[in-house]
Amino acid sequence: MATPIHLEDVRKEFSTLGETHLAVDDLSLDVPAGSFATLVGPSGCGKTTTLRMLAGLEIPTAGRIRFGETDVTDLPPQERNAAMVFQSIALYPHMTVRDNIGYGLKVQGVPESERNERIDDAAGTLQITDQLAKMPGELSGGQQQRVALGSALVQDPDILLLDEPMSDLDAQLKAELRVEIQHLHAELDTTVVYVTHDQTEAMTMSDQVVLLREGRLAQADPPQTLFDRPASEYVARFIGTPSTNVLSCAVERGETEATIATGEFELSVPADALPSSIDESVRLGIRPQYLHPGGGEHRFEVTVEVVEPLGTESVIHGRTGDGTRVDVVTSETAGVAPNETVTVGFDREHAFVFDREGETVLFGAELATGDAREPYDRTESQSRSTL
Ligand code: ATP
Repeated sequence: MATPIHLEDVRKEFSTLGETHLAVDDLSLDVPAGSFATLVGPSGCGKTTTLRMLAGLEIPTAGRIRFGETDVTDLPPQERNAAMVFQSIALYPHMTVRDNIGYGLKVQGVPESERNERIDDAAGTLQITDQLAKMPGELSGGQQQRVALGSALVQDPDILLLDEPMSDLDAQLKAELRVEIQHLHAELDTTVVYVTHDQTEAMTMSDQVVLLREGRLAQADPPQTLFDRPASEYVARFIGTPSTNVLSCAVERGETEATIATGEFELSVPADALPSSIDESVRLGIRPQYLHPGGGEHRFEVTVEVVEPLGTESVIHGRTGDGTRVDVVTSETAGVAPNETVTVGFDREHAFVFDREGETVLFGAELATGDAREPYDRTESQSRSTL
């Protein structure tokens, strides 16, 4: 039965050659029963270490992990009813696919008839029934990854832990398996925690995206919330393709109004909408999808460097006068060519304002209405998640 996962101030330090390295830093997180959470972030941010602590392969230096009401922090892997599929596919080359899938059950002493029934069920779900008699060497990468998933599924785990299971597959297979894993999750009564550094996988598959930065939680929310209401410049830049554009702006405070301006555009907000901690400058984030050639309320010039056609739309890569990189996603590319200057614009409801520390202090909607917001609260974010 699917089980909720709770991490409370989980910390993991590694000591090597007398030096202590902090891999996971006081991570607190709730993953509701039966939901799909994805741990995402750049290399070294602590994703695999977190997953290995959930599997029982690493013991936290501090903090507690609970599966439902059970504190599993110090339990060995075999007592957790959690199955893990690793990044590198570890199949036994001299065993058939059937024996590979059933190996774990055999070790547990499950009788052969029950074993075969569970293998046939898992193979049917994964659409590899016709591969059961083959040897792993005869399978494609995608089929091998399905066999590895099969070995986890036959164990009927409460919790399924997947560590970059698609990283070695080509783009087309990834796209296929992404959909299959979602189908699988819909059929199974299992809580899934999935690790990837690919934000597209995270955004398309998850109920909850957990973005880490240097071992700490940057934001944990449903995918659309990370896109629309990123807690920080780091989140805004990591989530979304191409990355969010960020422009440096000067701030001038008047009695009733404050202006946020570059040399080319100026937008005014009620003075009390900007937190008092903001003094002379802010950084303004605008997603490439919300910058329009020749349109938008606030405009500036971009010198085009490269235009990438993607079929129905194109990505314009360019720079502002001060050399800031700007990307624009648009279907309006008439007259747009390298070395040309184009005017692009945005509407204020699509901008984010970041303070000096990179925290988001205003979102587009609040820029439009002038309502200030409280700084991002991670506890509130978790409870807001509708999973
Ligand atoms: P990647 O995407 O590259 O797999 P990750 O986000 O999964 O990265 P982790 O593998 O969890 O990151 O590693 C987090 C940090 O902890 C890294 O700096 C890594 O070097 C360090 N680390 C991980 N395992 C160990 C270990 N056994 N001993 C020492 N340091 C470790």
